[in-house]
Order: sequence, then structure tokens, then C-alpha cells
Amino acid sequence: KSTADKIAAGEVVERPLSVVKELVENSIDAGAKKIAVEIKNGGKSYIRVTDDGCGIAADECEKAFMRHATSKIINAEDLNSISTLGFRGEALASIAAISRTELLTKTKESKTGSKLIIEGGQIIENTPVGCPDGTTMVIRDLFFNTPARLKFMRADSAESSSVIEFVTDIALAYPDIRIQMINNDKILFATNGRGNRGQTIATLTSSILADKLIPFIYEEEGITVEGYVSGPGESRSSRKNQVFFVNGRVIDSKVIEKGINRAYSDRLFEGRFPICYLFITVSPERMDVNIHPNKRQVRFYDEDAIINTVRKGIITALDSEEA
Ligand code: ADP
Ligand code: MG
Repeated sequence: KSTADKIAAGEVVERPLSVVKELVENSIDAGAKKIAVEIKNGGKSYIRVTDDGCGIAADECEKAFMRHATSKIINAEDLNSISTLGFRGEALASIAAISRTELLTKTKESKTGSKLIIEGGQIIENTPVGCPDGTTMVIRDLFFNTPARLKFMRADSAESSSVIEFVTDIALAYPDIRIQMINNDKILFATNGRGNRGQTIATLTSSILADKLIPFIYEEEGITVEGYVSGPGESRSSRKNQVFFVNGRVIDSKVIEKGINRAYSDRLFEGRFPICYLFITVSPERMDVNIHPNKRQVRFYDEDAIINTVRKGIITALDSEEA
């Protein structure tokens, strides 16, 4: 693989988390109803993502690892209303360039599946195999051929906690997908995929906490906010338990925080931080997601509408609790 390819790979793949993120997003785009994520040594030595999605046809497998190979057809207009999570066609090429990658995949239509082994971007093996419908990607020895990047990785525990946090967020965002997380041979959680967010929160956090959250759904100005918030008694001293999703993506947002703060100060619960899971649905044309490559930032064109809808939703929840 050329140096240029390795450098390009570094921009997409910084750490085990970036690999897991790209693979899981591919599984979601593939329509998976079940996704298992397994890591060892913080993901440095081993990452596996298995899904039961659409699979990759035998004659498409090698192409999937080529730069700018995407099956998620887009045109200039589509860029403004991206509905799939991936769209650049860079992830697999980048991951395969700096690891030992194994792909096992089969479509429902095909009798046999495919197995590919790629090391440092070189295809070592491409053979038909029997395997279940769906896709398994195994990434071993991340950065084995880029020692400088290898050095930048943090301790196993730091790398694994960021992976686990991400998979937890995904499980919350997609309660209708069964999501399993395995770390160093231990199953950390498995959601049931029945689509109940309250129950999913209970599976992922302590159930005592989840019991005390007040659920609500509020809609105004075409913005829908589904939320689970704590009453003032269960508030925290930091924002650590505030998680926001916009159209299925976890984001950081001062605008949403402002909406939460206003609701609590309207009800005279100032100074503490409520536990707050918010799932916001807003038409993609009303915001810009291409602010930062990590996609955790968005710009809402109408910030006041977001602040207001979040505020009113939470107030509805707090007042229903009081009654
Ligand atoms: P992108 O997601 O931007 O299209 P990727 O490099 O992540 O680019 O993936 C390349 C292609 O490989 C995808 O467009 C898709 O066709 C295929 N692919 C990757 N992962 C999966 C998967 N888990 N299931 C089915 N197809 C997949
Ligand atoms: Mg992708």
C-alpha cells in the first residue's frame, strides 16, 4: 500500500473507536436487525462486528475495499438529505490499509458466501465459503504497519471505554436492533431489539435509575422530541448523564443543553443537571451535519425552535410527574 493510502487511512481511522464506528454504521446501513460487537485489548488486537444485514455479493467484495467505492448512490442534491450513515466509500479501504482484515459475507440470494483476507491493503485471499446471511468483519492488529500511529493509542481500558460508550449510544438510538457488546470474552450487554426505549435504557444503565426517568414525546414546529428525563431529585452534578440523538446520531449540542436548562430553571430546579436522554427528529434540511468530520456537531438553522421544543417537552414531562 502506498504511503498516501496510509495517510488517508489515518484521517478516517484514528483509534479502535473509529473502526467500530464505521463498521457498525455499515451494519445499520445494511438493514441489520442484530449486531454483535466484540473487542479484545481495547480493540487494538481484535475487533469483530457481525450483522445479519443484506451482505455483500461475491463480485462486489473486492470493490467494497476500494477507495470511493460506495453502493450508497448519491448525487449533489442527495448530499443535503443524507439518510444512510456512510456515504464517502472510504472506511473499508482505510481500515484494510492499516490492519489485517477478514470479511465473511453472504447475501440471502446467494447459496455460498465469500471470505476475504486483506493485510495492509493487499488482498491475500478471496474464496467462496459457507456462512450465515449477513456480514462479519474481523480487524486484527490495528496499525501493525504504521508504528507511529500505534504509539498514539491509549491504554486498553481507555480505548475499550470509548468503544463501549459508542455501542451503548447506538443501542439507545436503535432500540429495534438487537445489539450485543462483548469485551475481552465477557458479554457486557445485549438489548432485545423490541423497540422499547425505556426498557433499553434500563438494560444499559442501572434499572433503579431508569425506573425514575419520566418518558415523554413532544412535537412542535415539525420537531419531535422523545425523551426520558429525571425529576429534580435525581439530578446530577455534571452533564455526564445527558445524551442527545438527532436523527439517530449522538451529538454534542449547546443548543439542546440550553433547552434543558430553560426547562429546569422555569420549574425552579436550577444549578443541577437532570439525567436526560433525548431523541430528536428534525428534517435534515433544517440543519447542517457537515461541520466536523467526527459528525458529533450539527448546526441547526433555527436554534430557537430546537430550544423551545426541548424546553416545552421537558416541562410537559416534569408537570405530568407533579400531577
Ligand atoms: P460507505 O459506507 O461510505 O459506502 P464503506 O467503505 O464503509 O463505504 O463501505 C463500502 C461498501 O461496502 C458499502 O457501500 C457497502 O456496499 C459495502 N458494505 C460495507 N459493510 C457492509 C455490511 N456490513 N453489509 C453490507 N454491505 C456492506
Ligand atoms: Mg461506511
